[in-house]
Amino acid sequence: MKVTDRITKIVVGGNEPDPFKYGGVYPPNVFLVNGKNKSVYIDTAHGKPEEIQKHLSIWESQGEPEIAGIILTHRHSDHIGGAQELSKRMEAPVISTSVEKIAIEKESSAKVSITPTDGEKLDLGETTLEFVHTPGHTMGSLCIYLEEDKVLFTGDNILGLGTTVISPDEGNMTSYIKSLQKMLDYDIEKICPGHGPEIETPIEKIHELIEHRHQREAQMLELITSGKDSMDDIFNTIYKDIHPGLHNTARRQIQAHINKLIEEKRIEQTGNIYGIVQ
Ligand SMILES: [Zn+2]
Repeated sequence: MKVTDRITKIVVGGNEPDPFKYGGVYPPNVFLVNGKNKSVYIDTAHGKPEEIQKHLSIWESQGEPEIAGIILTHRHSDHIGGAQELSKRMEAPVISTSVEKIAIEKESSAKVSITPTDGEKLDLGETTLEFVHTPGHTMGSLCIYLEEDKVLFTGDNILGLGTTVISPDEGNMTSYIKSLQKMLDYDIEKICPGHGPEIETPIEKIHELIEHRHQREAQMLELITSGKDSMDDIFNTIYKDIHPGLHNTARRQIQAHINKLIEEKRIEQTGNIYGIVQ
């Protein structure tokens, strides 16, 4: 599916509802960006044979343009599968942040050979990509800004629908909110997320996501103040009605907020109990 003249969106497998995985109910999006001289892939999905086949057939149908890079937005397996295979077939380097390179190479067979710095650009011919480091969902998460189209590819930092998972073992809530604020520095007309539909009102969406996290934080501070001051208390109040399959994810979200508040010295932990720092 064409998103703009330069961008082809490739989704294989239709809906595979799995609300308990990163990314929610939508399968991962893969984007092929065509410049005048070169092209790039952004993410590669799970790496199932039918996905790889689809990517290759679209590339072949375009006359096998030179692929300047297979850019991986972050380490999760639903975004990086097949990267090594495509890299070999298309004679293209795999690109990620240096933080994510370590995790990607540990979790897959992909070998990352280019690790752009924050703000570095890649010229594809009348098509300019800027690499924007946006830690949060994972610590090496990367967004890519396509200047000419004013499009931001966000990986799992922003999803087409719903809120992303910030898990304290791989990500960080303080960094995530800073990364959202950083995105507002760009002139964005459209967001191409890692899952789900494109977002046509990007600035509103980014403000809404920042506001959602601030509200959650305010709610947790209120709970702690009122004596609902353990993980269980907070979980049972905020998430009392969610499906059991989501409980672990919900607890990790709470923990990510708790860690942020502790880092900021706004709360402190004594045993299992949190208290407001006076
Ligand atoms: Zn992810």
